[in-house]
Amino acid sequence: MTHAGLYIHVPFCSSVCPYCDFAVTIAGDERRAAYLEALDREIALARGHGLRFDTVYLGGGTPSSLNPDQLDRILSRVETALDLTPDATRHLEINPDDVDAATAAAWRDLGFDFVSLGAQSFDDVALGFLGRKHRAADAFRAAETLRDAGFPTVSVDLIFGFPGQTVGGWRRQLETVLSLGVHHLSCYQLTVHDGTIFGRRSSRGELLELDEDDQAELYLLTHELLCAAGWEGYEVSNFAAAPSHRSKHNRKYWNHTPFLGLGPSAHSFLGRTRWWNRRKLRMWTRALEDGRSPIGGEEEITVDELFFEAVMLGLRTADGIDVEDLQQRFGAEIAVVDERAVERLAEEGQLRCEGRRIQPTPRGMAIAEGLVRSILP
Ligand code: SF4
Repeated sequence: MTHAGLYIHVPFCSSVCPYCDFAVTIAGDERRAAYLEALDREIALARGHGLRFDTVYLGGGTPSSLNPDQLDRILSRVETALDLTPDATRHLEINPDDVDAATAAAWRDLGFDFVSLGAQSFDDVALGFLGRKHRAADAFRAAETLRDAGFPTVSVDLIFGFPGQTVGGWRRQLETVLSLGVHHLSCYQLTVHDGTIFGRRSSRGELLELDEDDQAELYLLTHELLCAAGWEGYEVSNFAAAPSHRSKHNRKYWNHTPFLGLGPSAHSFLGRTRWWNRRKLRMWTRALEDGRSPIGGEEEITVDELFFEAVMLGLRTADGIDVEDLQQRFGAEIAVVDERAVERLAEEGQLRCEGRRIQPTPRGMAIAEGLVRSILP
């Protein structure tokens, strides 16, 4: 039986990074207290969906900037108000500045079993460029502390593909991750978003992105190095030391499992409807305080759109897509793939076909979106 995922957005950060386009804010104790009150109300409302959850993911923002008592309050409310499976995983995003042995032990006691450390880089020059407050030594120490605290899965987040990054420099980052004895890596290509400081610098011509070939070279190196160490690249941005360390929660986003998002800007998906909360903390909080819905918008997704998404999301994962499954789900008229394009891409080494299953190779994953447009007529 497939269970739903629960995402809770914690919007607080100690400063706003120049590349960030998430809904974040720097707020003091008063607004944090109001957030927690409003979240209690939204958790109570969530009960109305009648879903059973087997993952709880605290993301942000910086959830680790809440103290363990505040995190305990959120988890307790969730456990009391909602239906969780006994083996539900609890996932926490963590900033290196918030990690010490005592706090890590408190997070462990709260039942978090998958922790993601936002290291972003183990290089001081890169961290300076990214506008991060922590230094490489802090990220290194934080990863070791989390590993030693005994979390079943410790993951590290890295950013790659920024101007001037060399193959040798990226290789050192990956080797550092492997040397740390952690279990999971999420690596995200630097994306410049409009409305961010990087976006403004880019539009003035002051920030040049790495060209596509160089990006692809770094990406392929990631697969090569990690796979040589026995890891698997199971999704475009995610690598695990063993299948048991794959993210159970993120998988729900990739295979259209229902998920509910609480907190400002959080998105939800159920059936064929996707909806999202008001983005601004103040608006979201006020709506809940006034007894109004915090939802900012929603859309109904057509079957054609769902099929396109299923192929796109599937080809971002190593498991790929099963054409027969898709035909059963969407009907043979809608679930059509261009067989000749599939054959050509297989010959070019971007896809692998086994029966009715089509899987991307690492080279295919590097251009996942292009693959989808090529195989859908
Ligand atoms: S810490 Fe993360 S969420 Fe917060 S501003 Fe930086 S990138 Fe955004």
